[in-house]
Amino acid sequence: MDTSPAAIEMRLAAFRQRCGALGLALTPQRLAIYQVLAGDASHPGAEDIYRRIKPGMPSLSLGTVYRTLELFEEHGLISRLHAFSDQSRFDANLDDHHHLVCVRCRRIIDFQDDRLRELPVEPASLDGFQVLGHRIHLVGLCAECQPEHSPAARS
Ligand SMILES: [Zn+2]
Ligand SMILES: [Zn+2]
Repeated sequence: MDTSPAAIEMRLAAFRQRCGALGLALTPQRLAIYQVLAGDASHPGAEDIYRRIKPGMPSLSLGTVYRTLELFEEHGLISRLHAFSDQSRFDANLDDHHHLVCVRCRRIIDFQDDRLRELPVEPASLDGFQVLGHRIHLVGLCAECQPEHSPAARS
């Protein structure tokens, strides 16, 4: 996900417009929650978002963050990722894309490869299932988490 100031600004403008069209009130808390997602390519979880904006918004509760994320998801403003069984992560990038999931630092990185637009699946193996889309999670170690980059290996 592009996190340049111009890209974040575009995402925020589209978000404001869609909230207006949906009749969703743009409260400061909702805006702050979306802002974290719009500017963070690592797909943060609810608690992460809460920790980041709580200092500037003392009245914010973790429950509000969860409910707001659910609301955004229901309206298609963000998507939820189930990359880890213990924690949902959230994505403001609505473009078609896939994810690289690091099992060590739990970073989730966007990636796209044109060859993944079509999956090499035979219709017969789908047993009548109608495919609406697909998202691929490649699970592994990010560049920083590979052994040769760890402090132990360097010393
Ligand atoms: Zn990592
Ligand atoms: Zn993503």
